[in-house]
Amino acid sequence: MEKDANEGAEGVGSDFISEFIKEDLASGRADRVRTRFPPEPNGWLHIGHCKAFSISFTMADRFGGKCNLRLDDTNPEKEDYSYVEAIKRDIKWMGYDWEDREYYASDYFEFLYDTAVKIIKKGSAYVDDLSEAEMREYRGTAIADKGNITITPPGKNSPWRDRSIEENLDLFARMRAGEFPDGAKTLRAKIDMAHPNLVMRDPVMYRIRRETHYRVGDAWCIYPMYDFQHPLSDAKERITHSLCSLEFEIHRPLYDWFIREAEEYPSRQIEFARLSMTHTVLSKRWLLRLVKEGRVSGWDDPRMPTIAGLRRRGYTPEAIRNFVSRIGISKTDSMVDIAFLEFCLREDLNKRAARVMAVLNPLKLIIENWEDGAREELEAVNNPEDPSAGTRKIAFTRELWIERGDFEETPPPKYFRLFLGNAVRLRYAYVVTCTGFDKDAAGNIVAARCVYDPATKGGNAEGSAALEGRKVKGTIHWVSAQDAVPVEARLYDHLFNAERPMDLSPRADGSPGDFTDGLNPNSLEIAGGALGEPCLAQAKPGEYFQFERLGYFARDPDDGKDGRPVFNKTVGLRDTWAKIARKG
Ligand code: ATP
Ligand code: MG
Repeated sequence: MEKDANEGAEGVGSDFISEFIKEDLASGRADRVRTRFPPEPNGWLHIGHCKAFSISFTMADRFGGKCNLRLDDTNPEKEDYSYVEAIKRDIKWMGYDWEDREYYASDYFEFLYDTAVKIIKKGSAYVDDLSEAEMREYRGTAIADKGNITITPPGKNSPWRDRSIEENLDLFARMRAGEFPDGAKTLRAKIDMAHPNLVMRDPVMYRIRRETHYRVGDAWCIYPMYDFQHPLSDAKERITHSLCSLEFEIHRPLYDWFIREAEEYPSRQIEFARLSMTHTVLSKRWLLRLVKEGRVSGWDDPRMPTIAGLRRRGYTPEAIRNFVSRIGISKTDSMVDIAFLEFCLREDLNKRAARVMAVLNPLKLIIENWEDGAREELEAVNNPEDPSAGTRKIAFTRELWIERGDFEETPPPKYFRLFLGNAVRLRYAYVVTCTGFDKDAAGNIVAARCVYDPATKGGNAEGSAALEGRKVKGTIHWVSAQDAVPVEARLYDHLFNAERPMDLSPRADGSPGDFTDGLNPNSLEIAGGALGEPCLAQAKPGEYFQFERLGYFARDPDDGKDGRPVFNKTVGLRDTWAKIARKG
């Protein structure tokens, strides 16, 4: 029996791209599948790119084809090797492999130049002397009239449009030779200045730009434009299906035009909706601004939606891949709630993260009927979702640390934690009853006091104390004051308070506003005096845990104050997505 192309393949289910490819294979229009992922090395990859490359890798894989990695590096101003390295590292970390198919558009400069010459020889391209501003004016603009219908009055031909082929060949060669200053001339495709699609109105193919390229140095002073170089780079690599985001849709007729004129391999472009997510921005140019303006600590700041930021925050590649496959592929732009990404992450970490106890804002708890210096080793479950993770020993001592918020002098209604006279279970340990508390001269509470009940030992789940005849409503976490190690916990919130930072609201002074207006000033809170179980001192960078009752945390690669290990809060325990989904 023939295997259904969608069966067994990881990732996205049946979708319009698979259908498109299937048809091409059935009709013989394509005899194999070759896709590519073409990032420009001018920034680090973000989760939107994850969507793009997982679609390209998955489609290739699904149809027995291959996916190339192509660095789309034809804009020397902003590109750099450090970006190439970051891009490669992050795709690999996500679990995708381009093997030896690593290409650079800058390796095609000679081929692109020859192709431009070929198009000139056909009479389909010309050297223009118009300035950038003049060109814009000649091209014309779309006008929205009252009925909201867009009309595009025809543009005007450049006075240089009818140069002879010989003159164009000569001028183009001299452009390359460096005879003209930057911006003095361009090479343009000769298409149609009255075309309803502005992209088709004699687009620029080459511009003069004296800029050192990070790979080819000063070998060139003319650089090809994206619209010309991209289809031809695809054709050169014999890409069958060039998958890209929706903003390139209006460029598709031009994509086809260049390939036709160049008589090269007929690659085809197919567009899908970009990933947009609430409370963040997903475009390199905006992320670059956050980095440059120091709004974040760098591309890998754990609040950034970059792959490196997500990794440092504690995201797993599996959770991200799962998220990307569940949002699916569509042809219409939509906004994905960031809570859904967090939901996918929580689902993954819940299965895998080892549980430990840590106290972010410690308050001393003294067990008055526990002998000073005595220790008892108690057994704690490492992961209730995974019995194979086993158990560990934790020390119970006379002095413990508990969360300051787990004790109240005057408890509000429905407060089931510690207050004078109330009993709670200390996780994995005993039921304790509060007997008092100590204050310093300034009136601050510095310790809580209690007595423990030896008959209530153990109990891993809440309420289990009831089984032993003691009804307590609350269970709190703790660490032994003798054993606890100091750690720094970094607690993150959304980078933007604004749900859609790119929907600008005007400022009070009437100016249009900027996406940075929506930044969350409290997106990072540091708990510098946190204390945790001793094993946290040995945690390796990237290792993740569930801090019981607090959330998931991952060890940061760097140390904090006084060399303390730093733990980034990855995500909380509460599932806000379920609530949102129910409402929707
Ligand atoms: P810039 O703001 O500089 O244009 P970018 O974020 O769009 O940056 P590119 O390097 O232009 O990044 O994109 C590389 C590829 O990734 C393109 O094929 C593009 O279609 C795809 N891509 C970029 N952003 C997204 C996104 N948010 N969702 C899906 N695909 C994306
Ligand atoms: Mg882009």
